[in-house]
Amino acid sequence: MALATETGPRARTARFGDLEINADIARAIDDLGYMTPTPVQQRAIPILQRGRDLLAQAQTGTGKTAAFAIPILERVMPGAKRPQALVVVPTRELAVQVTREFGGLGKYRHSREVAIYGGVSYSPQDRALQRGVGVVIGTPGRLLDHIERGTLDLQAIEIVILDEGDRLLDMGFAPDVRRLLRRCPKDRQTALFSATLPWEVRDLAQQFTRQAESLAIDPDRQNIETVEQLYIEVLEKDKVRALEELLGRYEFDQVLVFRHTKRGVDNLVRQLKQRGRKVEALHGDLSQRERERTLDAFRRGEIPILVATNVAARGLHIEDISHVVNYDIPEDPDTFTHRIGRTGRMGRPGVAVTFVGEWDFDRFDELREKAGVPFRREVLELYAG
Ligand code: AMP
Repeated sequence: MALATETGPRARTARFGDLEINADIARAIDDLGYMTPTPVQQRAIPILQRGRDLLAQAQTGTGKTAAFAIPILERVMPGAKRPQALVVVPTRELAVQVTREFGGLGKYRHSREVAIYGGVSYSPQDRALQRGVGVVIGTPGRLLDHIERGTLDLQAIEIVILDEGDRLLDMGFAPDVRRLLRRCPKDRQTALFSATLPWEVRDLAQQFTRQAESLAIDPDRQNIETVEQLYIEVLEKDKVRALEELLGRYEFDQVLVFRHTKRGVDNLVRQLKQRGRKVEALHGDLSQRERERTLDAFRRGEIPILVATNVAARGLHIEDISHVVNYDIPEDPDTFTHRIGRTGRMGRPGVAVTFVGEWDFDRFDELREKAGVPFRREVLELYAG
């Protein structure tokens, strides 16, 4: 990776892609195996490094946590007694996850951070706060409890992050978040990250940020550009054989196949199983538990092929999907974008194959135009000669 540490008497910095960041953090990034900054990191880090407020539209999976953790870690004094940075999150799971990311990125900075959330005893949190931490990551209710009890002091806070702002508001935390922000010094820096920007989120940003810069990252849109797009003209009746041919032709880790209907999914799974393939179905008729079990097995690589309806197209984060197959053509360009967004994550190469059946030409033309990316046509052996 491009990581040339600069030498010199001043603070040591190093490059992370186009970004200039603290050398100790760059070393930790290297250990974590991040090769280049993601788009949200590329855009948010310089803004936060300049001390500006920020309203960022970015979903989980875009690398948003490191986008705020890196500039915070650069700023927090190692060995700080009172917290200098506050990250407010909607759930305890997110608190734990964000704290872990700070731990990983800050390991050569000797940074100290603590996760503060409800449903567990106060004493370990009290002890950590007493010992002194630079960064506090917590859910609103428990953070306020600590303030009331006098165990959390926000007077030295220099930067506040509201993470997953839309979820904070959906979960009814708006009054708590407002209360927390009023407890922080007025001259602090504030950044709000949110997957969506409904008016309530904008309102919160309006009220608690000053001349905020804003940016929006659409993860699926961003992926579409790193994914190689192929299309194959195939008669409806030949699609199973076409899929078999593709499975034989490409080396793949994990392939996600999309169909319109639950019945279509079940049919295809049955046919592939008959042909000896390891494959499972994912759709809305399965119980939550069944779905999770299937997804886990797919994530672990035990099942190489998953056939799904669109329920699987949103929010799924699996790193190794090398191929997405639109077995049935997507209903509209948005569905297409979301389906394709499952592959090529984090800049990894991915291939998306769209089957264009005998009735799909008009829809495919529209889709191709709206997607605005090049499609390459592939011809099946099946039809050769
Ligand atoms: P997040 O959107 O913050 O939940 O991050 C999603 C995942 O991407 C996490 O597992 C991070 O560890 C990982 N990640 C963050 N930044 C990068 C990067 N620049 N390159 C590769 N992976 C990253």
